[in-house]
Amino acid sequence: MIYLDHAATTPVPREVADAMYAVLTERFGNPSSQYPLGLDMKKQVEAWRKTVADALGCGPKQLYFTSCGTEGDNWAIQAACWQNRHLGRHIVTTAVEHSAVLETCKWLERQGYEVTYLTPDGRGNITAEQVLAAVRPDTALVSVMMVNNELGNIYPIADIARGLAVKNPKTLLHTDAVQGFLKIPFTAGALGADFITISGHKVGGPKGVGALYIGPRVRNPRPLLAGGGQEGGLRSGTEATAQIAGFARAVELRTEGLADKLTHMADIKAYAAEQLTAIPDCQLISDGTAPHILAVSLAGWPSQNIVNDLGGRGICISAGSACHQGKPSHVVAALKLPKRVAGGVIRLSFGPETTRADIDACVRALREHHDTRMPML
Ligand code: PLP
Repeated sequence: MIYLDHAATTPVPREVADAMYAVLTERFGNPSSQYPLGLDMKKQVEAWRKTVADALGCGPKQLYFTSCGTEGDNWAIQAACWQNRHLGRHIVTTAVEHSAVLETCKWLERQGYEVTYLTPDGRGNITAEQVLAAVRPDTALVSVMMVNNELGNIYPIADIARGLAVKNPKTLLHTDAVQGFLKIPFTAGALGADFITISGHKVGGPKGVGALYIGPRVRNPRPLLAGGGQEGGLRSGTEATAQIAGFARAVELRTEGLADKLTHMADIKAYAAEQLTAIPDCQLISDGTAPHILAVSLAGWPSQNIVNDLGGRGICISAGSACHQGKPSHVVAALKLPKRVAGGVIRLSFGPETTRADIDACVRALREHHDTRMPML
């Protein structure tokens, strides 16, 4: 199998699975239990928290484990709106966020919030000026993702934070960094966002675990789950110890030689872009510079057919963040591309393990698809 869909999820290295297995079988104590099996696990969870917090550049007390990136996005948006409920009921976000952000915003619209959805230019770019121009005195929250998961565009979060401090210092800033964490260099402290969402399974960790950074400007954050008081009383529920162990081990492994891994992914991306655009009718569709995501279009050939054809040959790629029943995704739709181009958008995404031979196999299969199937768009 050739796996070129690392933005969807990543393989779990053996060391990560081993760390989880030990916690599931021998070290299975509940961190709230008062005998050594539990007390040791409590210490261990705090050590794992520090590992992830160090990689994010924040203090361990500012990091809360969640069940996934989706949960972090939901929690951050609701907590920000709660803190600023007296400031106003306006939110600024983009039309190209993950549905975890968009659906939470739509839910808030049904509660009476007004949401401004900023659209990118035709290459997927969103500028800090554009975001700041939409901010008003009653803007409770700005939520802009760090790296777009379908296009690989990087959005200027630090500039937005600096601009907000001038335009409306009370507005809180959330960034969904699920595709940015350990892919582009940043630290929570320098970024200036109040909430940062990350997820384990995009960096070699297991599915079912993520984390939310909550910064010092968030006073008495609104708890997500009430109950036994875990996660500083903000997100009750017995800690998913094996998942957290796996997340921390994955972070340790990823951060070893991270700069080389990122350079490798960027090289693979450049190589893939060069090879793919040599296929007739194939074009790059964004200015995305994240090292692991490449979006192209085989203009005229429906992306779902390409994904199915390559899938049948053991090559995993994606049609954006899934082409919903033949319609381009909301991200591709926001680019306002001609129909033939929009319908043919595919996403390749890379990990430290991806090789040039993987790209060569994918390019061969795409060429064959192009040469043997009729264009339909
Ligand atoms: N945000 C972005 C940008 C993503 O790419 C994803 C997953 O694809 C998520 C949020 C959701 O993360 P999770 O799968 O951990 O819920």
